[in-house]
Amino acid sequence: MKDKIVVALGGNALGNTPEEQIQAVRHTAKPIVDLIADGHEVIIAHGNGPQVGMINLAMDVASKSSAATPEMPFPECGAMSQGYIGYHLQNAIREELLERDMQIPVATVVTQVIVDKNDSAFENPTKPVGAFYSKEEAEKLMTEKGFVMKEDAGRGYRRVVASPLPIDVAEKETIKTLVDNNQVVIAVGGGGIPVYAEGNKLIGIPAVIDKDFASAKLAEILDADYLIILTAVEQVAINFGKENEQWLSTLTISEAEKYIEEGHFAPGSMLPKVKAAISFAESKEGRKALITSLEKASAGIAGQTGTRIVK
Ligand code: ADP
Ligand code: MG
Repeated sequence: MKDKIVVALGGNALGNTPEEQIQAVRHTAKPIVDLIADGHEVIIAHGNGPQVGMINLAMDVASKSSAATPEMPFPECGAMSQGYIGYHLQNAIREELLERDMQIPVATVVTQVIVDKNDSAFENPTKPVGAFYSKEEAEKLMTEKGFVMKEDAGRGYRRVVASPLPIDVAEKETIKTLVDNNQVVIAVGGGGIPVYAEGNKLIGIPAVIDKDFASAKLAEILDADYLIILTAVEQVAINFGKENEQWLSTLTISEAEKYIEEGHFAPGSMLPKVKAAISFAESKEGRKALITSLEKASAGIAGQTGTRIVK
């Protein structure tokens, strides 16, 4: 059966420098095009942690030392990271398609994701971004700019931003139109640029939306059949890294919830994936989520590996 699939790519699909990224996306494009060649409709989402970190840090450092470089707001850094990653990814997928004689257009949509500006996450920002500062500099930024600055493991002070939940995708109609016309779309890069609506305006917020949650939201909005989260491990485990480690092929929602309770999934890495998988699988009958590695995407879809989260 041909499915509509949202594929969420993790850090290992991209790499940390432009050269690395070009190499990595060439590799990443193959399993994605395998899915397209099998007849599936594929929408691609991806993370941006190291990339937005690099852009934000570079802009911080440059604006501190040069009058020619303005301060770059965090949402703008997120937009830059979507363009930078989308540029490489769309070209790699395009090339892989053309090598297989498939004439399918590929494009990246700069994507804004609506959040609740009263999300409780804003009360306790936890994600460090940008440069390190001295205590004095940090205090100045707190009073002058209202940044939240926290001491980071003895290395100095860093700005921290919140991680609110995604509510809606501002460009959903554009993404749907492209998908319905059999075009390959890259969207919600880095979880999307967090915004809230005020009248006719969308206002960017300095925050980071988890890419796994944003991908699940996009899959729900597009009425996808499958959410596939591709990461560095082939399966999800309980007792991960311990001697009684056990890799899982299938997880029902209630099992997944029990394992979350028991603390089997690390916050910030596997936990958001399992939670995103649950939220998609329980959103409607027949929706399935799969967590596996990039290399095993096709085998995972074929039911040979990965961890499937089902209702
Ligand atoms: P991504 O960049 O793909 O989001 P993350 O590093 O955030 O990747 O999350 C994937 C990582 O989660 C795996 O590489 C693995 O080291 C870790 N992990 C934590 N808990 C588990 C678990 N219970 N089962 C499998 N992997 C886990
Ligand atoms: Mg992650």
